[in-house]
Amino acid sequence: MNPLDVYKKLPRKNCGKCSAGTCMAFAVQFLRKMILTSECTELDEQGKQEIDVMLSDTGDWMERRLQELFNEISRINFSNVAEGLGAVAEGDFLKIRYMGKDVVVTPSEFKEELTIWDKLLILMYIKNAGSSLLSGKWVAFRDLKDGLIRAESFHEACELSLARMFGNNPDGFLQKLTVLGAQDISGFSAKHSLVVYPLPKIPFLVLLWPGDEEFEPDCKILFDSTVTEFLDVEALLYLGMALVRALKI
Ligand code: SF4
Repeated sequence: MNPLDVYKKLPRKNCGKCSAGTCMAFAVQFLRKMILTSECTELDEQGKQEIDVMLSDTGDWMERRLQELFNEISRINFSNVAEGLGAVAEGDFLKIRYMGKDVVVTPSEFKEELTIWDKLLILMYIKNAGSSLLSGKWVAFRDLKDGLIRAESFHEACELSLARMFGNNPDGFLQKLTVLGAQDISGFSAKHSLVVYPLPKIPFLVLLWPGDEEFEPDCKILFDSTVTEFLDVEALLYLGMALVRALKI
């Protein structure tokens, strides 16, 4: 099973109404269990069922990875890593802020309803146990360690998706960012510059330019230079996609 198999079953309209933004991106995210068929407003019920069946045997590796990560974090003393992660340890659980909400995780489970991708991202963040202080130096995705390899994917899946959402409804989009805890920051040439924290030590600096007759709306995301101590670029790409989903809902 590969994304092309799913893509062929999609309406292939590239209408941009789902959080993936394009049908091919939808197909990739669907196989990674990051998006549901219900997000494609152009699919009828039969189409949704046909695609859902395709997913039924692809999810096992994610469950296995989830279990591996739980095994790894069960060996971590939460009290020792909480401060470095920007989290709070209480008893045998860790309270951590994810996408503007407090999430409680124990060595074997999450107390909140989350998608499997959200769980994987949070557990990877805990497993890495980064502890650096933020440097305050902003860098582009492509300038991070190994960033060049995934820079184009990050641009398409995250920056272009956010630019499109911002262009469709600027006020609503800014309001949703604010609900996630985003705050204005000065010193940048973009029309809007906001910092949002999908995870406590991973700020996203979101720069937004409205469109005009000549140019489409644009979005650029910058990271603190310490970010890869907390998540590698692959996970960072998925965190960006999770942010897109959170802003879409
Ligand atoms: S909603 Fe997404 S997957 Fe469905 S047709 Fe539009 S772009 Fe393609």
